[in-house]
Amino acid sequence: MLNSIGVIGLGVMGRNIAMNMASHDENVAIYNYTPDLTEQLVTNREGLPLHPYYDVEAFVRSLERPRKIFVMVTAGSAIDSVIDSLIPHLETGDIIMDGGNSHFLDTERRFDQLNEHGIEYIGVGVSGGEVGARTGPAIMPGGTKEAYDQVAPILTKIAAQVNGDPCCVYIGPKGAGHFVKMVHNGIEYADMQLIAEAYSFLRVRLGLDVEEIADIFSSWNDGELKSYLIEITADILRKKDDETGLPLIDVILDQAGQKGTGKWTSLQSIDNGIASSIITEALFARYLSAVKAERVAAASVLGGPEARPALDKDVWIERIRQALYMGKIAAYAQGFTQYRTSSELYDWNLRLEEIALIFRGGCIIRAEFLNVISEAFATDASLDNLMLAPYFADKVQAYQTSLRQVVAEGALTGLASPCLSTSLTYYDSYRTANSNANILQAQRDYFGAHTYARTDREGMFHTEWQ
Ligand code: NDP
Repeated sequence: MLNSIGVIGLGVMGRNIAMNMASHDENVAIYNYTPDLTEQLVTNREGLPLHPYYDVEAFVRSLERPRKIFVMVTAGSAIDSVIDSLIPHLETGDIIMDGGNSHFLDTERRFDQLNEHGIEYIGVGVSGGEVGARTGPAIMPGGTKEAYDQVAPILTKIAAQVNGDPCCVYIGPKGAGHFVKMVHNGIEYADMQLIAEAYSFLRVRLGLDVEEIADIFSSWNDGELKSYLIEITADILRKKDDETGLPLIDVILDQAGQKGTGKWTSLQSIDNGIASSIITEALFARYLSAVKAERVAAASVLGGPEARPALDKDVWIERIRQALYMGKIAAYAQGFTQYRTSSELYDWNLRLEEIALIFRGGCIIRAEFLNVISEAFATDASLDNLMLAPYFADKVQAYQTSLRQVVAEGALTGLASPCLSTSLTYYDSYRTANSNANILQAQRDYFGAHTYARTDREGMFHTEWQ
């Protein structure tokens, strides 16, 4: 009997995706370019219909037509080498899916390359990590709709399900799926950093201990902040270190790593003139965290402000909650603005209400308020900015004072709050009808004769300033 799908790359994600498919009654051919991972999965296949192959040709021959091959290897040149090894064995109409975190422009290039061979290529954004891959990730496929329709029965059943709906919908042509996954990761960077800043305020400024903060995060998870990241932060804060008995968080070094998708989100927004300052600030916060030795040296040279009086805990815990929620709204507003603007630029016709819905399950940024985001775009698909939707406009109106107080108190205390303060700056900049950019235009015209537009009539003008 032929296999219904094949998986290439049996690392952390690939083996779990393969097991997920096999758990849903698919006969899955498995292949890895080095045999060890294939053998390991065969040993641990738990009776699932996973069928090992040790050369590409036999792997391909074992598949039903059109062949459906899900590649889950390290992003970059590994994908190109897997594609090159497959091309001689594939036929017109066969489908390769790339489930890794490939750059969307690489996906577009590979799509065109395979198109010349009559082979379909789907760039599949996958979010959910190891557990999500096994039990149901959020899936963002981009390619031709015809090719997606062929693989949809499998992708929709292995995806996370929320209220009976799969967290997998067709995103759009070519690189659109990987683009949506990339910006999802950028939003994730901002969301994580905002939570870290709320934690710092509770710990450093209010002087709460780790367990109290864990309880606060748990209680926040019962309300409008309910989300996977808030939930795991409470879990993280409760975890003790086996060796020292201390909260594990206190023995984890404060140097954040990153694998590049947040950077790509920022670079893409900069290339396309989109203000995603909160996402970019989250990236810079990781960069600054990385220079630990410099920070330690600077701490003894560069002084901060005088100590400030103690604050009323209950009042400020609620202020921090509101500030965090407003920061989150601003960060998602930036991410969804990047979707809208890029969709127009690349002619992708991204359906933002559906993107918000597929983020509700499986993925790292799954959160209660994605339902409200989806409703906002369902009501007005051409909404310029999420903050303008009535629900969010009311929220930011109600919570802005708290965000201002938290940012101001953080600044007076010398506590860095890069994403909270950038959220406030974004909010205030976005709602400024008459900005100071007229000064910039005058300066540009003064030193470079760059011309300026006038407020009272059409056209471009130049002034002899001296
Ligand atoms: P792993 O490092 O666990 O697995 C990488 C896989 O790629 C291994 O099977 C490896 O085989 C294979 N591989 C490496 N180089 C080549 C090559 N030149 N030719 C063929 N195969 C190769 O990574 P993950 O499973 O974590 O990640 C896979 C992809 O999924 C990446 O793009 C990642 O960004 C993405 N991703 C990861 C998530 C996560 O949470 N880990 C979440 C979402 C996406 P071997 O070991 O034999 O070298």
